[in-house]
Amino acid sequence: MKFEFEYEVYDSITELAPADQDLVNKAFEATKLSYSPYSKLKVGVCAITNKGNVVVGSNQENGSYSVTICAERVLLSTLSAQHPGEYITTIAISYLDWNNNSDKPITPCGVCRQAILEHQIQHKCNVRVILSSKNGQVYVIKKGSDLLPLPFSI
Ligand SMILES: [Zn+2]
Repeated sequence: MKFEFEYEVYDSITELAPADQDLVNKAFEATKLSYSPYSKLKVGVCAITNKGNVVVGSNQENGSYSVTICAERVLLSTLSAQHPGEYITTIAISYLDWNNNSDKPITPCGVCRQAILEHQIQHKCNVRVILSSKNGQVYVIKKGSDLLPLPFSI
């Protein structure tokens, strides 16, 4: 067996289609909503739904580290609460690190990959994932499930 997937690579945000640029800019803007006094890594996400609604999220840390919630899962929970029944068509992830750098694409952690995959299964949809930085390359993944081969499922 062999697992492969294709993804698009752009040298900067400005090469993206206008709608994708907008999502990435809003994701970067959402880093301002991050509560990250421990890691100092500010992650922001922005997604558009099948009905055109825009939802943002940011990482929310806690002194009891395991209580921390990643930006992607904050967004998915917000989506369920504010727009029940809707699903994400594209999610953009951006960040600002502890040195105020944002120069390479950020990737979701394994838990968030599992959460995005479950969102796809639940809604029978594909989630495009834009892995971005403010000043560096951008990767566009066609299906969130491409980021998690052999996922947990029952
Ligand atoms: Zn995560």
